[in-house]
Amino acid sequence: MMRRADVLIVGGGGAGCSAALFLARRGVRVIVLERGLVGSQATGVNYGGVRQQGRHPAGIPLAIKSRALWSRLPELIGTDAEFDPCGHLKLARSEADEAELVRWNRIAAEYGLVTRMIGRNAIRDEHPYFGEAVVAGSLLAEDGAANPRLLSPALARAAREAGAEIREHHSVTAAAHDGAEFVVQANGTTFAAPWLLNCAGYWGGKLAETFNEAVPIAPLHPNMLVTEPLPYFLRHSLGVVGGGLYLRQIARGNVIFGGGRGSGEQEATRTRPSADASLASMEAAVALIPRLAGAMVIRSWSGTDGTFADGFPVLGPSRTTPGLIHAFGFCGEGFQLAPGVGQVLSELVMDGRTDVPLEAFDIGRFALQDAAGTASPA
Ligand SMILES: Cc1cc2nc3c(=O)[nH]c(=O)nc-3n(C[C@H](O)[C@H](O)[C@H](O)COP(=O)(O)OP(=O)(O)OC[C@H]3O[C@@H](n4cnc5c(N)ncnc54)[C@H](O)[C@@H]3O)c2cc1C
Repeated sequence: MMRRADVLIVGGGGAGCSAALFLARRGVRVIVLERGLVGSQATGVNYGGVRQQGRHPAGIPLAIKSRALWSRLPELIGTDAEFDPCGHLKLARSEADEAELVRWNRIAAEYGLVTRMIGRNAIRDEHPYFGEAVVAGSLLAEDGAANPRLLSPALARAAREAGAEIREHHSVTAAAHDGAEFVVQANGTTFAAPWLLNCAGYWGGKLAETFNEAVPIAPLHPNMLVTEPLPYFLRHSLGVVGGGLYLRQIARGNVIFGGGRGSGEQEATRTRPSADASLASMEAAVALIPRLAGAMVIRSWSGTDGTFADGFPVLGPSRTTPGLIHAFGFCGEGFQLAPGVGQVLSELVMDGRTDVPLEAFDIGRFALQDAAGTASPA
């Protein structure tokens, strides 16, 4: 049995479901093939940070494009996915950290991002719960957080309503280009289309390899935990210069933390949090916010994203196979990017171009690194 479409998408995470939505809205026949349930991997289990702050300059335009779409989610998918533009407050714990915040803010201003530096005294006036470890902070007020459980299912629902076919429990076991079109096997069915979008998350590396584009991708398993509900006090999502700790409080009172690494099975489809990482995160959080001492952690978890040594995803056309477009390996930053990535993919398919610079994300960069003898570790 052969099923035909204009565009086949492998992977029903944020990237794949968003691409399906934007393509279907432009009248394209799309089929999404998802091994499990939509949003069952990284997009469904992440911290929920919708953050432009701290990004590498090469990634800022895509983050800005995506942020604009977060404001439009109710109109696009019928829910805001609990997106709360609560602001992202990045904390400095030393003067060097503070200088780093100032440096990034200057870069951000060139892109039109508005930040506010908050000095040692002001930060304690505004946030009396911070401990002595906090020296300063920088607020990007339009950043925020959302509920990761809600995004992919809502994108998929809206894509379906726009005409896309979303096939869950369809694991792609073979993919090739037969000279005329892509031919993909999943669940005993053959799917064919002139376009193939590789939105398979960490496993996108494997799919790229099928088309002779091996990449030095590694699995990333951020360690996450959540406390019992506490009296509400934390307005912003918090991060620290240098990374390694981020936390936010949801309206019900629970404080969600990320810090350290969990672990994953070989294929990385199942992951485990780490008790050591959770304890270390808690200690680091208490140093920032002493009142968190004694808060009970009620759950911890992890997930799998794909990561590259340079911190950039692979996003853009294949270098070996016309019609194949990659969008995977978002290095722990792809939840915020999901709406924008989907729109970019739809533009590449329909218009052959996008207004977002993609050079830094080109899959060809690894071949160049190989040639220079500086390939990143797998
Ligand atoms: C614990 C954690 C915390 C994070 N926190 C944040 C955060 O706060 N903010 C942020 O912006 N980002 C965060 N990230 C990163 C973000 O979640 C990811 O970058 C993003 O969700 C990746 O989306 P995706 O669609 O590329 O991949 P995924 O969501 O992983 O989707 C890929 C899909 O492809 C499917 N698939 C794979 N192979 C096949 C196959 N052969 N056949 C069919 N289907 C296949 C998988 O089942 C999966 O559903 C975090 C990630 C993790 C794991």
